[in-house]
Amino acid sequence: MRNGAVSPTTFIPAKISCARPAEATCPFCGQANTQNWAATRSEDGTLYQTERCQTCGTVFLWPSPSAAQLAQAYTTNYYGEGETKFNPYIERLRNACANLRVKKLTNGLPADATIMDVGCGDGRLLRNFKRTGFRKLHGIELPGRAAERTATIPDITLHLGTLASVELPAANFDLITLVHVYEHLPAPLDTLDQLARLIKPGGRLFLAFPNISSWQARFAGGHWFHLDPPRHLTLVPPQAVISYLKAKGFKLLSERHLCLEQNTYGWIQSALNRYDSQRNFLYERLKRNRTYLPDRSAGSFALHAGLGGLLLFPSLLADGVSALAKAGATVELMFEQTSPH
Ligand SMILES: [Zn+2]
Repeated sequence: MRNGAVSPTTFIPAKISCARPAEATCPFCGQANTQNWAATRSEDGTLYQTERCQTCGTVFLWPSPSAAQLAQAYTTNYYGEGETKFNPYIERLRNACANLRVKKLTNGLPADATIMDVGCGDGRLLRNFKRTGFRKLHGIELPGRAAERTATIPDITLHLGTLASVELPAANFDLITLVHVYEHLPAPLDTLDQLARLIKPGGRLFLAFPNISSWQARFAGGHWFHLDPPRHLTLVPPQAVISYLKAKGFKLLSERHLCLEQNTYGWIQSALNRYDSQRNFLYERLKRNRTYLPDRSAGSFALHAGLGGLLLFPSLLADGVSALAKAGATVELMFEQTSPH
C-alpha cells in the first residue's frame, strides 16, 4: 500500500454527514442557491461532496479541494508513469481519435493560422496540428512531467502556467482548443471571458467537456466516471456555456454528443463504479497507474475486464441513443467569434 491508498475493505460508507458551509456559491453564475448533488470518492478513497446550482445547473465540488489534495491528484500518475498514459493499443486508438479531431478542427483554417491548445498535457494535439502542416502553435500547461513532454516538440511555444497567469496578446488566435480542460478550471466564467479576449474576430473556440446534463451523469451520480474528483472542479451545463458565449458575440457552429473514446467507456466504468467501491479500478489498471491501485488480485482485473467486455454493446447503444437526444456524456462545441471586441 503506497501513498496512503485505501484498501477497498476500509472504505467508509458513502453517506457521511458532512457539515455544508453556508456560503457555497455557484462558480459560474455566482448565485448562492445551491443544494447537495452527490457524495463521491477519488481513486484514493477520499470523500468529496458536490453542490448543484439551482439557477444554472452547474455542479461543483464543495467544499473546494485543498491545494495539497489537488497537488496529490496531479502527480505523474495522472499522465501515466511511462512515456505514454496508457498501454500501446489504447494509445493507438487515442492517436487515431486525435488525428480525426485535428482534421475536423482545422477544416477551413488558413495555413498560417495561429493555434493554441489550453491545458495541452503531453502535447498530443499540438503534435497532430504540426503534422498537418500548421506552424504557429502555442500550448499552455502547468509545470510538470506532461509539460516536459510538450517541451520536447520543436517549434512550439509552450507557456508554463494557467490561462489566467500567462500574458498573451488580445485577438491573436485563429483557433483555441480546450479538450477536457474546462472542467479542471476553478473560475469557469472568467475563463470564457479570457478566451473571448484572445480569439481573433472570425476565429474559433473549441470546447470538449463532460456533460453534467447527460443521461450518464444522471444514471451514475457520484459514481460517474467523468466526475473525476478532485480534478474536475466545475461541471457547467453545455446550454449555460452556449448561452453565455452567444451573448458575448459567438456563434455556435457545431454541437456534438457522440464520442466513442470518452462516452462509451464512461458508461462501462460508471456501471463498474456502482458495483465496486474502488473507483475506476479498470481505468487505472489500463492506465498502468500503480500508485493508486491497492494490492488486488489479477482475478479482480480479469473480472472487471470481463464485465467491461459484456457492457460494451449496451454501452455503445446507450451512447448512440443519448447522443441522438443531445444528452451525451461529453460534448464538443465549436464556436466562431462573430463580433469585434
Ligand atoms: Zn449557477
